[in-house]
Amino acid sequence: MINQKNRLNFSGGPGVLPESVLQQAQQAIIEVPGTGLSVLGISHRSDWFAAVVNELEANIRALLGLPDSYHVLLLQGGATQQFSMLPMALLRASEHPADYLHTGYWSGKSIPSAQREGPVRVAWSGESDGKSGSFTRLPGDDELELSGQAPYLHYVSNETVEGVQFHRVLGRDDVPRVCDMSSDFLSRPCCAERYSFIYAHAQKNIGPAGVTVVLMRDELLQRVPTDLPGFLDYRVQAQAHSNYNTPPVFAIYVVLLVTRWLRDEIGGLARMDAINRAKADVLYRLLDDSDGFYRGRARASDRSLMNVAFNLGTPEGDQFFLDAALAAGFSGLAGHRAIGGVRASIYNGMTLAAVEELAGFMDNFRRQRRR
Ligand SMILES: *Cc1c(COP(=O)(O)O)cnc(C)c1O
Repeated sequence: MINQKNRLNFSGGPGVLPESVLQQAQQAIIEVPGTGLSVLGISHRSDWFAAVVNELEANIRALLGLPDSYHVLLLQGGATQQFSMLPMALLRASEHPADYLHTGYWSGKSIPSAQREGPVRVAWSGESDGKSGSFTRLPGDDELELSGQAPYLHYVSNETVEGVQFHRVLGRDDVPRVCDMSSDFLSRPCCAERYSFIYAHAQKNIGPAGVTVVLMRDELLQRVPTDLPGFLDYRVQAQAHSNYNTPPVFAIYVVLLVTRWLRDEIGGLARMDAINRAKADVLYRLLDDSDGFYRGRARASDRSLMNVAFNLGTPEGDQFFLDAALAAGFSGLAGHRAIGGVRASIYNGMTLAAVEELAGFMDNFRRQRRR
C-alpha cells in the first residue's frame, strides 16, 4: 500500500526513500528474511551482518565502477564529522594549505573545521555582500587558481541549501580531489576514480541518518598519522571492516536495500541520472515559464538536479505558497532556515509522477493568483 502523503515529501533531508525499500525495512524490523531475527537485534558480529557489509561494498563498487585501489568505509558522525576527520588525517602535518571552495552553506561549514586542523586557502568564494545574491552560481575553471602544492582540493558537489551543483569534475590531476557528495551521491555516474576521497552521509539520497559512506584511495590512507583516536583513524576503520565499534546495523541494512533498488529496479546510475534529469526539467521548465512568478535561485547552468530552490518575490508570498502546498499534501518544501524561500528536494527516491503532481499544483497556484 502506497503512503500517499510520504510520496509527496520534498524534504531537503532526511530525504524520501523508495516505497519498496520502506516495505522491506518494515518487514526487517519484525524479521529479516531467512534469519528469524529483527534487524534491530541482530549482532553486528554475526555472519549475516558481515555479508551485509560485503554486499553493500560490492554494490557501491559496481554502481560506481570503483577500482580495488579504494577502501569503502561505513562511518558514523555524519558529513560533519568528515569536515574534521579528513583534515585531522591529511592537514595536521601539512606545510602547504589545502584548497577549499566556498560555494554555499555546507562548504562554508567545512572550512572553519579544517582551519582548526591546519592551513587552508579559500580558492574561491561565492559569498557576496548582499545576502540574497550569495551562492547563486559556481566558478568557471578560468576563475580557479588552484595550487599544485596543496595536500588536497576540497569541494561540495551539490550545495543542498542553495541548489547549485557542479556538472563537471574540478581541479588538477596532480592534487588529490576530495568531495562532499552527501546530497547527490549515487544520483548519477560521478567519475569516482578521478577523486581520491569521496564522502556522503546516507540521509539525503541513499538511506536513513546514522551512516556515512567514505571512499578513499589507498595512497591517501597511507598518509594518515598514527596518533589519532581509533574512532577517527581511517586506517583503523579500514582494518576493522567498518566494524570497529557497534555500527548502525539498521541504517547500513537500509542503504544496502537502496543499492539493490538502484541496481535491480532502476538499472544503474546512468538510468537514475536520466530519471533525475527528467524530474528536474519538469520543475525548472515550470519556473522558467512562469513569467517571473516563481524565481529560480541558481544560475541556469549551475542548477542542481537534486534541490530546486526558488522564491515568490516576498517572504509573505513564499509563506502563502508553502501553506497552500502543505494543505494540498506537499510537505518539506520550506527552504533551509539559513536562506528561507522554497526548496523542492527531488532525491533518487522521489518519483517523476510525484514531481509532475507538484508541478501541476504550482501551475494552478500561479494561475489562480494571477487572475
Ligand atoms: C546535509 C549536509 C551536510 C551535513 O550532514 P550531517 O550528516 O548532518 O553532518 C554536509 N554536507 C552536505 C552537502 C549536506 O547536504
